[in-house]
Amino acid sequence: MAATLIDGKKIAAELRGAIGARVSALQAAHNLTPGLAVVLVGEDAASQVYVRNKGIATREVGMQSFEYRLPADTSQRVLLDKVNELNDDSAVHGILVQFPVPEQISQQTVIDTISPDKDVDGLHPINAGRLASGHLTGPGAALAPCTPQGSVMLARAALGDLTGAHALVVGRSNLVGKPVAQLLLAENCTVSIAHSRTRDLAGLCRSADVLVAAVGIPEMVKGDWVKPGSCVIDVGINRVEAPEKGLDDAGRPKTKLVGDVAFDDAAQLAGHITPVPGGVGPMTIACLLQNTLTAACRQHDIDEIA
Ligand code: NAD
Repeated sequence: MAATLIDGKKIAAELRGAIGARVSALQAAHNLTPGLAVVLVGEDAASQVYVRNKGIATREVGMQSFEYRLPADTSQRVLLDKVNELNDDSAVHGILVQFPVPEQISQQTVIDTISPDKDVDGLHPINAGRLASGHLTGPGAALAPCTPQGSVMLARAALGDLTGAHALVVGRSNLVGKPVAQLLLAENCTVSIAHSRTRDLAGLCRSADVLVAAVGIPEMVKGDWVKPGSCVIDVGINRVEAPEKGLDDAGRPKTKLVGDVAFDDAAQLAGHITPVPGGVGPMTIACLLQNTLTAACRQHDIDEIA
């Protein structure tokens, strides 16, 4: 393998450590403990793991964690009432409703109901608008989505200044593709966004100094699409069968996680590359904690402790 691995696990641990120190300082100086509320509707197994991990990480940095588990048949009205209750709760500085929500609930209506000041997922139209207008620091700045923030931090950790780099984002979702493109623009990259209708995706990828793959298709970006020496940030998390690992207790093939990039081949050409797992994934929770700290400081009109 020619590429240097970008160790998201290590970088995320360092960020969580720094956040923990700032939470202690905030408590000492202002008697303020940031609080994050996570709401889960239904029993989706993957969502339960995510919510549990978020709770553990929140407590580890010294913040308050509030968890609400609602049954799968919860009506939209009941969920919106819970969100409004959390909007009004002064101990709660960040609110995250775990998606997907059951089909009787509109995800967009939930997003629209969360107070933009507590929207630590960065999905509210006000935060999306602030991000699009490049308002990223200071009072009233965007709370930016967590996975995109983490992705850009990893590119910066690998390359330093990203000014002038051609960054290609494959994927245009509101959760990942569009916000990561906005953040890369704010880093002075020349940004292209590719999607399912893009022509000559392989050729476009070969021109990218920074390639961010956020598609959700296992190993779709082939190794020879990667520009030699470039930085590859693989956001994808896909569970696939791994017959080489044998069978599970139920006699089914065991599984493994892979990204949207054919890692082994891409790593022959790239200069830097994120692994899956252990790349972007751990950064998402660290950035969620960062957003919660930022939100708490802003709600109390406190300058964020650096
Ligand atoms: P999404 O399904 O909402 O969006 C996928 C995007 O890929 C779409 O914009 C679509 O246009 C594009 N696309 C689909 N097929 C394509 C093709 N053949 N060529 C080019 N583009 C194509 O997914 P998402 O929510 O943006 O997530 C993307 C991936 O990132 C998923 O694997 C998801 O699991 C992962 N993810 C990881 C984290 C994390 O913490 N690491 C967080 C969120 C999402």
